[in-house]
Amino acid sequence: MRKKKKDIKKIIAGIDLGGTNVYMLLIDSKGKIYGEKHFPTLSEKGPDGVIENIILQLKDVVKKAGFNLKDIWRIGIGSPGPLDSKKGIIFGAVNLPGWKYVKLKEKIEKATGVKTGVDNDANCAIYGEKWLGAGKNFNNIIGLTLGTGIGGGIIIDGKLIRGTNYNAGEIGHMSINPEGIVCKCGAKGCYEQYASASAIANFAKEKIKKGAKTIITEIVKGDINKITSKTVYEALLNNDKLAKEIWDEFIKFLAAGIANLLNIFNPELIVIAGGVINAGDKLFIPLRQAVKKQTFEIIYNVAKILPAKLGERAGAIGAAGLMLFEGDFYEL
Ligand SMILES: [Zn+2]
Repeated sequence: MRKKKKDIKKIIAGIDLGGTNVYMLLIDSKGKIYGEKHFPTLSEKGPDGVIENIILQLKDVVKKAGFNLKDIWRIGIGSPGPLDSKKGIIFGAVNLPGWKYVKLKEKIEKATGVKTGVDNDANCAIYGEKWLGAGKNFNNIIGLTLGTGIGGGIIIDGKLIRGTNYNAGEIGHMSINPEGIVCKCGAKGCYEQYASASAIANFAKEKIKKGAKTIITEIVKGDINKITSKTVYEALLNNDKLAKEIWDEFIKFLAAGIANLLNIFNPELIVIAGGVINAGDKLFIPLRQAVKKQTFEIIYNVAKILPAKLGERAGAIGAAGLMLFEGDFYEL
């Protein structure tokens, strides 16, 4: 047994730090998973409390997998931003109260003795899909995670596109209407105001407030604050007219953004993640049709639009993958 353990090379801890939950796993360079854990972030404890808990949980996962901390080759962390991925510093995160200029990389390295890299959570998620998910065998991929906002990541020629000060890939804030809805970033008409899961719910709330008749109101028992994208989808499956209108509108905007991305980057794959992908053909068939209408034929013909495969593991897997394949960037 011991000998076998020695043969294992490069065990990496991948950690996806979210505002509510942390997903942690141990993975090797072949993609084999040795242990994993899902636990509450405890964000109310502030940065030091959160980090302390992560270290505690990491030690537990490592021990349960039959390793010691010194067997861990690297730690990769996906975090909400904005952040400096080169230095591993979190500037601030909406869902992590008290996180201002937190030297996450330094703190984790000090506590564990393991070289650590930190990157944007959306970048990690798409990188995970590239390494072991829907993007396997593809080198030019754009990833979109449809949730409260839209997380984005761009991989060209197999490498993550980072930009001048490493903030590229903010696809959710590409404006698709300069006179449109004001986004929480302050700009108008951001993509995520029209094509995220929240956007679907918001469209429904607005139309109901204006008096639209729909079974959505019955599903949430009159409490329109309870409307989510899932509620709208449920109504859609029941042939609700308003739900169909909202769904079509959502797909129109989602497609417009994807067409822009295809025309600019000419990727071979668009990967879409988030609960909305559970809609399957009801999403992907009309989406492909709408994208096709707005994209150069030569570009559309080589581009696949596929659902993500890794689910909630994507960010942790991608954070580990980035340490493995792009370690130089993090100066590891
Ligand atoms: Zn915005």
